[in-house]
Amino acid sequence: MSDGAEQRSRTTDLARASDTVPASGSPAPPESSESWKNRDLFAPSDEHALLAETLRSFVAREVEPQAAEHDREERFNLELFQRAGELGLLGITVPERFGGSGLDAVAAVQVYESLSTSDPGFALAVLAHAILFAHNLAINGSPEQCQRFLPDTVSGRSVAGMCMTEPDAGTDVMAMRTRAERDGNDWLLDGIKTYITNGGLDADTLGDVFIVYARTGAQGLSAFLVEKGMTGFRLGQKWTDKLGMRASFTAELVFDGVRIPAENLIGAEGNGTRHMMRNLEIERLTLAAQGLGIAQRALRVMVDYANQRKSFGRPLRDFGQIQRHIAERFSEYRAARTFVYDTARRHSFTRGRQRLDADAAKLLASQVAKRAADAAIQVLGGAGYMGENVVERLWRDAKLLEIGGGTLEAHHKNITQDLSQDASLLD
Ligand SMILES: Cc1cc2nc3c(=O)[nH]c(=O)nc-3n(C[C@H](O)[C@H](O)[C@H](O)COP(=O)(O)OP(=O)(O)OC[C@H]3O[C@@H](n4cnc5c(N)ncnc54)[C@H](O)[C@@H]3O)c2cc1C
Repeated sequence: MSDGAEQRSRTTDLARASDTVPASGSPAPPESSESWKNRDLFAPSDEHALLAETLRSFVAREVEPQAAEHDREERFNLELFQRAGELGLLGITVPERFGGSGLDAVAAVQVYESLSTSDPGFALAVLAHAILFAHNLAINGSPEQCQRFLPDTVSGRSVAGMCMTEPDAGTDVMAMRTRAERDGNDWLLDGIKTYITNGGLDADTLGDVFIVYARTGAQGLSAFLVEKGMTGFRLGQKWTDKLGMRASFTAELVFDGVRIPAENLIGAEGNGTRHMMRNLEIERLTLAAQGLGIAQRALRVMVDYANQRKSFGRPLRDFGQIQRHIAERFSEYRAARTFVYDTARRHSFTRGRQRLDADAAKLLASQVAKRAADAAIQVLGGAGYMGENVVERLWRDAKLLEIGGGTLEAHHKNITQDLSQDASLLD
């Protein structure tokens, strides 16, 4: 079978997998008392195992060869993004009736872990599109909105994102100033959003479609679908020269009296806060998965190097201080991986109020990723500091996970607040 034919047949299989993997997170039927022990936490069904194989092949053959170059050139790879669409990865959790793969949170975690073993920047662009936009719309949008926007999104024909952060409102998101006022049947949107992943495809090309949160009257926040081509909607500052995640394009977006038809309001007026908070849970879980991918790759590189590199006539692996780097990082990677997958296993797309473990998983996995990349640089010595070795890129990319989708401090605040309100969550 040719590579193309093989990949196409996997796509079909991926879509079929949705028949058996419940996306709702509802409990599986009871099993015999012993059979649950045979479950692989990281690929609990045949469909997850198939997805893992598809990802392994895609990452090795198509993601890895381009990763260093796109980081260096700070370039988003649209062609690769569309290949991810062909494989069903851009709509991994989107129902099949809208062209998606219809899979669950475990499958989403698999995607971002795997892509991040090679190209966390590309993975972030996919995540902003597939989780922050497509998944969000699939859960919160009307059937008409889903039908109109999702098929082009999951195929990669359009590039999408989500706009929450503003120049003066990040962690304190409820302080946002972007505003939408009713004007007859339409809304008029004014404001500025910043650090928007996929805001542009490059410095000259606006992304295609966005979910934008805005203040609406006394009703709190509302969510709108804003499309390229709407008058008054344009690219602002382009955030080039980022520390990491350079294969994703980050931009400021300007909304200057953008006229939005009523049918582009998602849900009812005032529903925006609930949509935003609910989607942050799966966003944090998938960002945590990115941390797992980074940690896994950093460990592979440092173990290989410790086996090959000699010092004082002996391989580095013989030295206790090097063993400590490897063993400590491995142990915490294993702990984080188990926690993230277990949280994904229990995650429901519709239940809400699941932020405690999603925040805690990201709090842990983001720091595990950064420590693993840092240790890998240390084990490689000068070679680890050089751009030709992947570990310096992993180190730069890992830092974003401690900021984007909620800073470490935001997770501290949320976790403490949730536990102090309900200590039974510790049970
Ligand atoms: C590469 C990249 C991509 C991004 N993509 C997107 C995107 O697609 N869409 C989007 O909407 N946003 C995006 N963001 C924005 C990101 O979510 C925010 O940067 C993040 O939420 C933090 O907000 P801030 O940068 O305004 O920092 P601030 O909120 O100003 O925080 C600054 C510092 O103060 C701390 N702090 C703030 N409040 C408190 C408090 N109460 N207690 C203790 N410490 C506090 C913070 O933890 C942080 O350390 C992206 C950011 C980056 C860097």
